[in-house]
Amino acid sequence: MNKILISPSSFGECGSEPLDLLKNAGFEVVPNPYGRKLTENETISLGSDIIGAVAGVETYNSAVFDKLKNLKCISRVGVGIDSIDLAYAKEKGVEICITPNGPTQAVAELSITLALNLMRRISVSDRRIRNGVWKKETGNLINGKTVGIIGFGRIGKKTASLYKALGCSVIAYDKYADSAWMESNDMGNVSFETVIRTADIISIHVPGMENGKPLIDAAELSQMKHGCIIINLSRGGVINEQALFVHLKEYPEFFAALDVFLDEPYKGELAELDNILLTPHIGSYAKEAKLAMEIDAVNNLINIIGKLK
Ligand code: NAD
Repeated sequence: MNKILISPSSFGECGSEPLDLLKNAGFEVVPNPYGRKLTENETISLGSDIIGAVAGVETYNSAVFDKLKNLKCISRVGVGIDSIDLAYAKEKGVEICITPNGPTQAVAELSITLALNLMRRISVSDRRIRNGVWKKETGNLINGKTVGIIGFGRIGKKTASLYKALGCSVIAYDKYADSAWMESNDMGNVSFETVIRTADIISIHVPGMENGKPLIDAAELSQMKHGCIIINLSRGGVINEQALFVHLKEYPEFFAALDVFLDEPYKGELAELDNILLTPHIGSYAKEAKLAMEIDAVNNLINIIGKLK
């Protein structure tokens, strides 16, 4: 009656603390033996008598909930809960929790990493040397640049503080601005248009677009500075990839970095261009961040199940 299914296959790789916490709290751990995302049937058979699940992105629909009769809590390592039927979970009295803080520093640091790489043309220079070409690029300093943050929540705020530490001035646009925080941190919430027209570096940290319409399309790209760097670490589809391809081709001094794509794994034409960096959705992939998320997920689960006893 105290079994916990741990479904993320890499769980515990960054440190033993999360598993130790569970064991010390008296739980028996059922690991994922498949080394990949569980199918519904696998979740059902592994989890037949579990009280809780430390979950990845596997599906929890009504068929799964109906079979996991003792399940009381799904604790996601991460934030996405689109694979869980939330209404049915509520009906069944299963509590759901997430770990929104774990990735913040890692995503913020990735924004800086990508911006610095593009400003000094690191990846393109590295590729050239490997191809026998010795060519020195004169890049730009990050110090003194204006950084525009779109989406000023957890990650946006942390990203702003890192850019400020590098000597940048930061402006931000958030649709539902936290005015109190912004005032006390000496920042104004400027308009979306001000960010896209005046920033040298634009770092996007909004949630996915609910209406499916890109936030940044050809019209917005055309208003940005020609030497601008745009970085999307939020969700695929927030920038129109086709419009970005056309813009990058037309303006070789315009740069972009994408960590998220409409279809992942990404195999599209942006990979043909030198003025873009592409990373495979690794925003939160820092060992310290993974460990922090796993610890948060386990503590959330222990707290919720503890309250039931
Ligand atoms: P958050 O909820 O703290 O912040 C999001 C902010 O965006 C909020 O302040 C909200 O008011 C604002 N917002 C919503 N719609 C907007 C719009 N149309 N225009 C401007 N602002 C808008 O979330 P967070 O933890 O900061 O995460 C931000 C994004 O980062 C999410 O999309 C999340 O999925 C993504 N993320 C990506 C990775 C990765 O691996 N690349 C990892 C973690 C999170």
